[in-house]
Amino acid sequence: MEDHLSNKIAAGEVVERPASVVKELVENGIDANSSKIRVDVEDGGLGKIRILDNGEGIEKEDRETAFYRHATSKIHSDRDLFRIRTLGFRGEALPSIASVSKMTLTSSTDGQEGETLKIEGGEIKERKASPPRQGTEIIVEDLFYNTPARLKYLKSVHTEIGHISDVINRMALSHPEIAFELYHNDKNLLKTAGQGDLLRVLHAIYGKSVVKGMKKLEASSADFQVSGYAAEPGHARSNRSYMTIVINGRYVKNIAVSKAVQAGYNTLLPIGKYPIVCLHITLNPMLIDVNVHPSKMEVRLSKEQALQKLIQDSLKSLWSYDPIVPEMKPPK
Ligand code: ADP
Ligand code: MG
Repeated sequence: MEDHLSNKIAAGEVVERPASVVKELVENGIDANSSKIRVDVEDGGLGKIRILDNGEGIEKEDRETAFYRHATSKIHSDRDLFRIRTLGFRGEALPSIASVSKMTLTSSTDGQEGETLKIEGGEIKERKASPPRQGTEIIVEDLFYNTPARLKYLKSVHTEIGHISDVINRMALSHPEIAFELYHNDKNLLKTAGQGDLLRVLHAIYGKSVVKGMKKLEASSADFQVSGYAAEPGHARSNRSYMTIVINGRYVKNIAVSKAVQAGYNTLLPIGKYPIVCLHITLNPMLIDVNVHPSKMEVRLSKEQALQKLIQDSLKSLWSYDPIVPEMKPPK
């Protein structure tokens, strides 16, 4: 099968909508040890998506191969697959995105002269030198121009920018040490300081009233370390997306952990309401399987029940209080 075609098929799994492009490209910026990542989006990502990072850049000899399927610089052996520390590892995102869009990649390493590659539908059309810079810039235009069915399935600009904003919020919550900026049609939607303070990121996203009553959570066991913040039950929302679970720097979806969070609030949540919580969990990469789905968002955990108990118990103790026993009056 032609490379182009298999990349286009993979794109069906990796690139569902503009927000998936943003997620994959921002993850690459994080893996490249960037301290600043700026995202500019036009018309919900249907017009243009631009990701600028100040990371390590792509080496000259890797710039072309990065567009081959499964060309990853992040894992080198079978064993690496069981101790993944980077967000990417499948080498699928760049070739997939490039196969369904018009992409311009500019990158350089060590502040040296850079290079710009123009790729259309997965084919490199142009390669030329560019001024020295720090990091990588990727521009994606005309997303899904050659997959009309996918294009048709996209929702309104409003819906798409909602998904993109959600992705950036979660990236910022997962990496308080990175300064994120998101602009939509030149309007700023998020700006974080990148100083490592999770509470400040929560403040930028949810506002003062939510953050004011948040409680800090800190717990650990032999296998897990958990830290983060939990909002008062009164701020509960009607969908699960306000529970952000980050494992080893990766935002994940895991039903067991979400259930433990809800159970930790016990009877304090009205039915059908979910709390605003952000938890960072650190564990040995051997205990987590990220290679479940191409989007790498669903994970399987070993020792899941022990983790559930740790989270549930520590949240419970956050919300428990000493019952006030009325003072006994001495008998007259
Ligand atoms: P993966 O992240 O799974 O390795 P990708 O298709 O997302 O695969 O990227 C392919 C390769 O291109 C990466 O392994 C990395 O070497 C390089 N790369 C992509 N984006 C960047 C970036 N912003 N900065 C540095 N290197 C990058
Ligand atoms: Mg990647």
